[in-house]
Amino acid sequence: MGDDDPTSRASPVPDRVAVIVPAAGAGTRMGGLPKQFRLLGGAPVLVRTLEAFAAHPAIDALVVPVPAAEQRAAEAMLSAYGLAAHVVVGGATRQASVGEGLKAVPEGTGIVLVHDAARPFVVADRIAAVVAAVRAHGAAALAVPVADTLRRGRGETFGETVSREGLYAMQTPQGARLDWLRAAHAAAEADGTTGTDEVELLQRAGYPVQVVEGDPRNLKLTRPADWALAEALWERRAQREG
Ligand code: C5P
Repeated sequence: MGDDDPTSRASPVPDRVAVIVPAAGAGTRMGGLPKQFRLLGGAPVLVRTLEAFAAHPAIDALVVPVPAAEQRAAEAMLSAYGLAAHVVVGGATRQASVGEGLKAVPEGTGIVLVHDAARPFVVADRIAAVVAAVRAHGAAALAVPVADTLRRGRGETFGETVSREGLYAMQTPQGARLDWLRAAHAAAEADGTTGTDEVELLQRAGYPVQVVEGDPRNLKLTRPADWALAEALWERRAQREG
């Protein structure tokens, strides 16, 4: 591989792993409680999510972009739950917030994961699997093969069926070497392009991303109806662990 090959892995990568959990959505400023601050098993979802990473032996630092107006409150909340996190001011978009997080990762970080605040059910072995795959390949993300039939909508009726062959539903964490992720974000910023996740930005910048099998329990809490299911799952997990 030549020096200008973006996938060149000639340079040594520092060992430490940071996770960025973007939580700078505008919901708080608009009055509604953003989903990452709703309670799950008596604590905010963001706290539940961060706890999974704080307890993980492969993770060395937590970085949490939040709205500027919430920085103090978020710091107080996380320390009240015993979570040591770098709480930074996010940006205007999720991508910009991750970009701010990338500036704030501690010295010695070589690998960065990005994880949705609204995925509190991430399990330890999947975090370990993503970190291991990033160490081996440079970039990796969790994904599950699509199980449902996919079909386009055409007004109020259905349009054509789309083959689900080879399609994945993406999850997080998604991760990469810090230098790859910084380069991918810088390239997107330079082009003025937006991606919906880190994989899209990494691929656009020429970095291949390894598939790591996700977990169907690693739900993203999105719709109001997700909450009842989430509470039931949390309860069951707490009983199993307690
Ligand atoms: O709004 P959306 O669902 O796309 O947000 C996805 C995640 O990105 C949420 O956790 C939200 O807090 C975060 N976000 C952010 N900075 C923004 C907008 C969204 O960190 N400016």
